[in-house]
Amino acid sequence: MRVIVLGSAALGGFPQWNCGCPNCRGFREGTLKARKRTQSCIAISPEGERWYLIDASPDLAHQIEVTRELHASRLRESKIHAVLLTHAHPDHVLGLPAIGLGGVVGETRTLIYGTRRTKEYLLSKNTIFAEGIDEDNWVEISLNKKEEILVEGKPSGLVFEAFSVPHRPISVKEEHFKEELEGDTVGYRIEDENGKVLVYVPDIREVTALALRKMDEADVIIFDGTFYRDNELIKLGISSKTSEELGHISIAGPNGSIEMLRDLNVKQKFYTHLNNTNPLIPEDSVERRLLQVEGFHVVSDGDVIDL
Ligand SMILES: [Zn+2]
Ligand SMILES: [Zn+2]
Repeated sequence: MRVIVLGSAALGGFPQWNCGCPNCRGFREGTLKARKRTQSCIAISPEGERWYLIDASPDLAHQIEVTRELHASRLRESKIHAVLLTHAHPDHVLGLPAIGLGGVVGETRTLIYGTRRTKEYLLSKNTIFAEGIDEDNWVEISLNKKEEILVEGKPSGLVFEAFSVPHRPISVKEEHFKEELEGDTVGYRIEDENGKVLVYVPDIREVTALALRKMDEADVIIFDGTFYRDNELIKLGISSKTSEELGHISIAGPNGSIEMLRDLNVKQKFYTHLNNTNPLIPEDSVERRLLQVEGFHVVSDGDVIDL
């Protein structure tokens, strides 16, 4: 299985348009050793021909343009045959209406895989999604059930399993979505025909026993690296909320993800979904070096991971 990291930042990307924090300023002034990051999304393929996305970032059109593997080779063609959604937050779904995914491109039908609640929220509360997504193309997923990703009704060679992860409610306004229910956010375990396993969890508040079980013995995990420290935004004076209050486990600290994931039997551990304030963004930071010592890495846009 081949994984291409299309985007590796949290909502807003890096640099973030309205931000003048030391990272964003340093990048714009050319004094920070860092790469631009678009909002998180990955493409996976068992054979390098047909591609499946996990999430559809608002930056998807640009991400496709800079990824040769996803270019059309005919007059109208989508190399993307399915999109698996982790949850309904804008940084994970806005690419669908933005480029018209979920309808039909040429002869290709793009299937959208997501939970019933994600479907309900996007299609019944958001006209812009309902207009573009053909309901017949939506595949409602169940939790903790191994299912084949289908392409034109046939097995793709990839089996996925979605598992619930705590994050934060889907909506702050919509009555039925203000309270977080099990499965509102999921992580994905993807297995190919050679038994290689990828686990992708871009947004998670707390490492549960279930998440640990799904991640253990994976070949590769790509995990929520939004904030390095729990008080990162408070210290910068950007917000009064901790990382946990915003729905993301911090990387460092006694209950951070380094601590929680350290003993997992996983070949390669990566962080993605970095917020623009994260000290892992500068490639020569102390935090980056410490992370490597712990056996973790950070993905960047365009990275290719072969399993
Ligand atoms: Zn997110
Ligand atoms: Zn989210």
